[in-house]
Amino acid sequence: MKALLGSLFFAVTSLSAFDYALKPERITSDVTCFFGAPEVMNKTNNGNIVNSCYIDTGEGYVVVDTGPSYAYAQSAYNAMQRIKPLPVKLVINTHIHDDHWLGNGFFTQNGVSVVGSDDFLHNVNVHEATRMQNTISPAAYEGTVSTLPTEIILESTRKKVGNQDIELKLISRTAHTAKDLVVYLPKLGVLFAGDLVFNDRLPSVKGGNINGWITTLEELEAMGALHVIGGHGRNTDKNSSKMTHEYLTQMRSEIRFAIESGLGIDETIKKVQMVEYQKYKLYDAMQSGNVEASYRVLEWE
Ligand SMILES: [Zn+2]
Repeated sequence: MKALLGSLFFAVTSLSAFDYALKPERITSDVTCFFGAPEVMNKTNNGNIVNSCYIDTGEGYVVVDTGPSYAYAQSAYNAMQRIKPLPVKLVINTHIHDDHWLGNGFFTQNGVSVVGSDDFLHNVNVHEATRMQNTISPAAYEGTVSTLPTEIILESTRKKVGNQDIELKLISRTAHTAKDLVVYLPKLGVLFAGDLVFNDRLPSVKGGNINGWITTLEELEAMGALHVIGGHGRNTDKNSSKMTHEYLTQMRSEIRFAIESGLGIDETIKKVQMVEYQKYKLYDAMQSGNVEASYRVLEWE
């Protein structure tokens, strides 16, 4: 049966036309990732702005995040089959933003379980057109169906797949989103932090909570992982959360100071420019919105 599933799985993958030409990059002996561009989604990158990873468990792969479309998931899968032809045993979705999970359908159509938090049930409407659908080229989006996780978890858990113990840590407070899920491999010291960790581009705070995010980063850093792989950006060393952590901490202290000085939200947005972060991609698109979202949390302190 295992062999049958493997061969079926492989046969299905040649149907879709669009090829993202993804380049797998090895992080450790058992972890390979695809790194997206530090950009907003558009018709050129077709949503390849996000990181997704494959964990080799000896008897199959575990996939962390499935990317922006069916064709993306297929391109990643095909690239991994060229490295080592193993079936996919399990898929994990770190959070509900649609650049991270719209490839789910590629796996569920082949009977693979997808694990995610109950945030998907509360805050994703599969009948609505997605942001991705409205933005990337129809050819790249073709075949994509909004597909929720098939296994909803309400608390942290662990799974044994092949030779890997996989810890699924559900963050219990709003941080980047209401329910962020991180994945830890104790044997390899690899932490998949989802969008709790950004590099190369400015994080997006909208829909999150700056206080919860900072507290969560403190907890993740205390785990002492050797490799921390974020949802965006190429840095995967043990200190890769530093940029996000420092950015949020500085922003919080500047906004708190503005609030104490009696500044309103518009004045605070003008004041908290954090020009040293202008060198990062998406600064112009994100900074004002990040200050606004954080002000609305901090004004109640
Ligand atoms: Zn996100």
